[in-house]
Amino acid sequence: MKNIFLPILLITSQLCYSQINLPWQGKKCAVVLTYDDAYNQHLDNAIPVLDSLGLKATFYITAFSTSMQTRMNEWKKLAVNGHELGNHTLFHPCIGGKGREWVKPEYDLNNYTVQRMVDETRMTNLFLHTLDGKTKRTFAFTCGDMKIGDSSFINGMKDDFIAARAVRNQMHKINEIDLYNVDCYMVNGETGAQLIEW
Ligand SMILES: [Zn+2]
Repeated sequence: MKNIFLPILLITSQLCYSQINLPWQGKKCAVVLTYDDAYNQHLDNAIPVLDSLGLKATFYITAFSTSMQTRMNEWKKLAVNGHELGNHTLFHPCIGGKGREWVKPEYDLNNYTVQRMVDETRMTNLFLHTLDGKTKRTFAFTCGDMKIGDSSFINGMKDDFIAARAVRNQMHKINEIDLYNVDCYMVNGETGAQLIEW
């Protein structure tokens, strides 16, 4: 949440078989651009650039974000225009503590139960459904956090999502990917050439 504009480049695990049955429609890989947290900058800066290039992206929405509270119709329009809305929780809870002083106690995963996390995430799915009418959705872990205490919470959400994106700079082959723990590369000021090199 600290970085204002943080696009994330995701090498997706989605199976894209062409008619001749090659993964990635015969290309070397597939790339998915994802943007987390629902910031105004996504509407003001990212969308115009993406639309000018004819590219679609996935926006992982924190439903109670300031931008959603004030510009909901624009987020809805984005979905109508073919961009994807993903679930990035209701209040963006993360594990607080040293180095994470910005995490408020009421949204600190140390103070959550798994059930609360599941409930808030389901509420976010319900909200996103009212924006785009979709019933299949993906999830992005907030701050990359996957556990509450010792318990992984994604297990309780596998009926709610078809995949979940982690925050981890790695790349796996199509047959090695765990759909509920998909790799991504975080992009924060890197050049186009650097991204291509990845
Ligand atoms: Zn986030």
